[in-house]
This record gives sequence, structure tokens and C-alpha cells, in this order.
Amino acid sequence: MKHKYQIVSDYSGGGNQGVIYTFTFDEVITPTMISNYHDCFSAIFSFDDIQAFTEKKKRLLGITGSGEKLIVQKVPKKGVFSPDYFRDYFANEVKKEFGEDSNKLIVFIPPYALVSSVFSDKTDYYRSFVEGFELGSYKFEKYKKDRKELPTHNVVLVSEDKTAVKHALQEGTAVCNGMYFARNLANEPGNVIYPASLAEEIKKQFAKTTVTIKVIDEKEAIKRKMGGLLAIGKGSVNPPRMIIIHYKPFKKAKRKICFVGKGVTFDSGGISIKPADGMWMMKGDMSGAAAVAGIMLTIAESKPNVEVIGIIPSAENMPSGSSVRPGDIVTASNGKSIEIDNTDAEGRVILADALHFASQYQPDAIIDLATLTGACAVALGMHAAGLFTKNDELAEQLTNSGTAVHERVWRLPLWDDYHKLNESDVADVKNTGGRYGGAISAAKFLENFVDETIPWVHLDIAHPAMPNKSSAYTNDYMTGFGVRLLYKFIKQL
Ligand SMILES: [Zn+2]
Repeated sequence: MKHKYQIVSDYSGGGNQGVIYTFTFDEVITPTMISNYHDCFSAIFSFDDIQAFTEKKKRLLGITGSGEKLIVQKVPKKGVFSPDYFRDYFANEVKKEFGEDSNKLIVFIPPYALVSSVFSDKTDYYRSFVEGFELGSYKFEKYKKDRKELPTHNVVLVSEDKTAVKHALQEGTAVCNGMYFARNLANEPGNVIYPASLAEEIKKQFAKTTVTIKVIDEKEAIKRKMGGLLAIGKGSVNPPRMIIIHYKPFKKAKRKICFVGKGVTFDSGGISIKPADGMWMMKGDMSGAAAVAGIMLTIAESKPNVEVIGIIPSAENMPSGSSVRPGDIVTASNGKSIEIDNTDAEGRVILADALHFASQYQPDAIIDLATLTGACAVALGMHAAGLFTKNDELAEQLTNSGTAVHERVWRLPLWDDYHKLNESDVADVKNTGGRYGGAISAAKFLENFVDETIPWVHLDIAHPAMPNKSSAYTNDYMTGFGVRLLYKFIKQL
């Protein structure tokens, strides 16, 4: 956690370096309201500012009697207001105006009753404030000699509901630690994070937890006949790995869940090489793996009564004399043969072995996350990940979880009609299904490698995992998408 928090039920001012945030849900600003601020904080506003605020300005600035800045912010009305409002708002605030010239931020959290129709519970509401501060403060500048770290603030959360805020702070801390880990992994370049170093980073991160880590290297992968993972990894000097992060609760677990994350540490496209433009972003083609590592860290810290196994197939997709070629036929660990039509459709090929591996745990559900297709990004844009499943209950649970914490998913079909797109003349299945319905044919490909008795969900996170303008905390870097979503999912089981 970047900032230091204090929770109080009342605040009456002090210190001249602080900034006080207050919020109003009232649409009509009356002179009584303004005089209330004066009474509470001995605040002084300029006449023109009051005038503008009563008309259409969203924010009123004043100075309190003890010299603090006072911000009165109008919250947009119902319909526009979302569970992300305060997360986004404070992510923005910590970055700009009051980021550098003040070390203390005092936030008067509006009572839960005012927003309860929008939030699924109090914890999610209070967490959104903490997550705004933390996620908005994220930076990845470790390689810059003159890096400008954002200042650490003392944040005072003012609420009558101190116990609930305290609980939300604990949960928010666990979630943000997971997201920071996920974002750091995804933002590291390909020359630093490759399959073996990814495994090492994960081992290091979990060393002080009760979680166990197992790493399958290329020799063991050969024994286990992981032909998909090996084929994609063999063009690189950095051999592939399968990383297993296993969390078991102390008590008998009520459910067993597998999370699987695509970990292509760099995707050049291989022999079917990608165009140069924007190829740097493919260092983030392990964002599914990063999200799985991140959620496992959150789980290790929050200790839910659910057994969770995180499985990361990791390879570097490079063109070389030893690369897999278009036309090659490889056999995955479940015995199905794959015709490699395009070496840039590599994610699904390594996931084939990971999904078969996950199936052997016989979990209650398998959920995979992958930056899998450009087609999904084209279909849904940055605001949602694609969700594919035949299980309506899981679809609903994940959709609701995503809405609650603002990592949203949108269901796309997984009808068997699409199976024929992946038919091959020479193998059991082909790794491309054509441009039309490309996100769906990729999901249908994966279905070949999951035990059909196990409920399974595929999440295509191609766009929301990458830097995007959907909020103030996803702008600049790989976003760590999936950690909040999966934590909420685990919590509601
Ligand atoms: Zn690719």
C-alpha cells in the first residue's frame, strides 16, 4: 500500500497542508448548505465561486479556518453514478491537482444509505475509495534514473461506520497488493520477465505465505506430453514453464476452484510475425498469468475458505530456426492433435495443456483468463472482457461480481455451431477459426481440452488488460484486470 490510512468518525480540522473532500448528492445548492460548510469548517468561499457552484460548476473550492483546502464536489445523479465513481475520482485526484502540494487528504465519506441502490454491499463501496487512492498512485518507473514518485499521503477517512470502513480497508489492501503484483509483472519487459524468471518472481513473492508453488520445466513437460506448451516455447532461447500456485485453507474447503492464466511473456507472433507497430504491447500478453498470480496473492492474504489453484502456462513466442511452423501438427497432453495454421494464435495452444492439467484436479470450476484475441477487443472494446461458458450459474456469478467491482464481463455465445470453424483436414482441431467470430472460435478451440464434466469459463481480457482510457487508473500501464473480479467471485461462493 502506498498511502497511510486513519479512520475517524469525526474531523474538525487542523494542520494547514491538508485537503478536505466533501461530497453532495443534492442537485440544488442552497445558501443553507453553503453556510453549513462555513459553520463546520469555518470555511471561506469567494462569492463568484459560490455563484458558479449553485449554477453549473461541479466543484467548489474554499479555505478552512485552519488553512486547509476544502473541496465540495457535486456527485452526478442516478444513472450516471456508478460503483466506479469514487475509485475513478480519487485515482484522478491523487495524480493531479492535489498530488504534490499536500501530504494529508481528509475524505468525508457520504453515508452508505445514499448509494446503496448502486453498490452490492458496504465493503465494495468503502473499498472503492481506498482503491482509487492506491490504483491511481500506481507507477512503473523503476528503470528511470530520474523517477518522480508520487508523494505518500496520510489519508483520513471520515465515516460514522468505522467498523465497516476498517474491514473494507483490509480487503482493499489485499486486493490492491494483488493488483500491484499483477501490474508489475505485466509491465515488466520481455527481457526481464520470461517463463523461468516469471516462475522465480512468483516463488519470491509467495515465499512468506502458506501457498505452495510448483514449477514444471521443459523436461517434465516432455514427460507429461505437453505438446502445445513445448511447441510454442521452442522458438525461444527461454524455455517454457508451467507454474502452479496452490492455496489450501486451514479448514476443510467448501469449494475447489482452478484459475488458469495465459502467460505468453512476449508474443512476436512467431513465424507468423506481427507488424512492428504496437508490438511492444505484447510484453503484456501474459496479463492473464499476471492476474492469476495477483489474485493468488490476494487470496494468500485474505485466506478464504476455498481451495484455489492458479495454473500458469508460460512461453515466449519467438521466430527462429527452431520455431513451430504453420502447418505443423502437435499433440496436446489430452491426446488431441492440433494443426498450427497460424503461429500467432499461440495462446490457445499453451492453454490446451493448462486446461487439461487443471481438469485433473477435478475442481468445482475452471476459470481461465487470457489476452486471447483481437477479435474480442474489436467486439467489446475496453469496457468489458468477453465471457464464454455453457454454465449459466457461473456466468451470472461472474457478471454480477464484475459489475460490483467494476471489472465487467459480457457474455458471448459458445454454441456448438461454431465448432466447425476450427475443423482441420489433417488434425483433430486447427488453431485458427477465421476472422468472423474469432473470439468465439478461440473459445471453442479451448473447449476441446477441458474435461466436459467440469464447469468452465473462459474470459478473453485482451482489451481491458491493456492500457486504456476507461478510467483514471487504467490510463498508463497494464491494468491488472481480473484480480478484483475473481476476488469478488471467490468471496460470494
Ligand atoms: Zn499471438
